[in-house]
Amino acid sequence: MYDVVVIGSGAAGIMSAITAAKAQKRVLLLEKMPKIGLKLKATGGGKCNITNMLELDDFINSFGRQGRFMRDALSRFYHDDLLKFLSNIGLQTHAPDGFRVFPISHNSKSVLNVLIAQMEKLHVEIACNQNVQKIEAQNSQNYSIYTETDIYESKNIIIATGGLGYSTLGASGDGYRFAKSFGHSVNELYAAMLPLHVEESWVKNCRADTIAKATLKINLPKMQKIRKSGDLIFTKNGIRGPVVLDFAREVTPLLKKYKKVPMLVNFTKGMNEENSLNFLKEEAKNDPQNSIVEILKKILPESLSIEICNLADIDFNMPCAKINGVKKEKLIKLLAWTPLNVIGHDGFDKAMITRGGVSLREIDPRTMQSKIAKGIYFCGEVVDLDGPCGGYNLQWSFSSGYLAGCLLGT
Ligand SMILES: Cc1cc2nc3c(=O)[nH]c(=O)nc-3n(C[C@H](O)[C@H](O)[C@H](O)COP(=O)(O)OP(=O)(O)OC[C@H]3O[C@@H](n4cnc5c(N)ncnc54)[C@H](O)[C@@H]3O)c2cc1C
Repeated sequence: MYDVVVIGSGAAGIMSAITAAKAQKRVLLLEKMPKIGLKLKATGGGKCNITNMLELDDFINSFGRQGRFMRDALSRFYHDDLLKFLSNIGLQTHAPDGFRVFPISHNSKSVLNVLIAQMEKLHVEIACNQNVQKIEAQNSQNYSIYTETDIYESKNIIIATGGLGYSTLGASGDGYRFAKSFGHSVNELYAAMLPLHVEESWVKNCRADTIAKATLKINLPKMQKIRKSGDLIFTKNGIRGPVVLDFAREVTPLLKKYKKVPMLVNFTKGMNEENSLNFLKEEAKNDPQNSIVEILKKILPESLSIEICNLADIDFNMPCAKINGVKKEKLIKLLAWTPLNVIGHDGFDKAMITRGGVSLREIDPRTMQSKIAKGIYFCGEVVDLDGPCGGYNLQWSFSSGYLAGCLLGT
């Protein structure tokens, strides 16, 4: 009989196991994959962006309306606590840009190694290749956990099974099934943080280009306020890059509803129509014979300059001064906002985050315990919370794992 069985060895599960073991609980950590922490190891392109230095309220707001739920967990264990904890167990961290925090080694393995060493020190029992199939309540305070090969008994269970993204790293959505088996509702699941596909085939001609500081907004009524800025990269059928990852979590729920999501992109580092008009006028005055593509190349990559001319129905070799008024107006509008229509995405296998999850209404934010089944706790990505890129999601996993591991309310 264990005090607690933790299902899932991601940031949330490991943190909860360590916290419970520190409180002298007998802890078993079950992981279906052959090794623990595979997703943690893959984070930040192998560098692991552990957290960021945002003020608590701003951090909470970054998760949208649902963010309020996190206040208890974050107040107990926020970035200062996490970094102090990691430092105490031997991991040095730094924030090279003053915001995003990484291990000084810039190697996620060093994060995983200190966490494993800490679990060993605290005698957390770890069992890999243990794919939990079902959980059964034996009585009001005793659960049986069935894997393909074994049955374990525990007073408490922490469900830290993550989301649906990257099945190669262990994601399967089992946690949602377990939650439902206890009567929890699971809010609709969407792939988030992933490359998007667009209707416009011209993007493939710009495949090699990275656009710094592009701004994306959704071109639907009441939604133009949703804007993101950052680096964008064209792909053979759409767009990817940091700004797209953040934007995608806003787009995928709309895509399900509308099938096509119109958006507008500023590729010109924020130039508006007036700036574009002045820029073209100035260039035409300085060198009236210079072709429009040579002018646009001063602010955009060549391939994109050509495609924008095509969209404006302008021969890109034409001198700027000779372009007629209607076409020039079209060009100016396109330089301020180029339309793209999102029609799909790369799917859960390329989604770094899952939007949606176990409903927050049925979880006590002060403990992370189920309001329906005593002794059942949730933490990490399995619950209905998702944040932007930049250490937000790992911090939430560590904070909620810490709170769940306190086993308050049992
Ligand atoms: C490629 C990539 C890069 C990322 N980079 C960053 C980053 O730099 N910074 C950041 O903040 N966020 C990043 N994220 C997001 C972040 O990794 C996740 O939000 C976070 O790891 C979720 O942690 P978790 O513990 O909730 O779940 P996970 O880490 O997904 O762990 C869940 C574990 O449960 C196991 N499991 C599932 N079902 C069962 C079962 N039935 N039985 C037993 N075990 C089971 C899985 O195998 C898995 O090991 C990244 C995500 C990806 C995919």
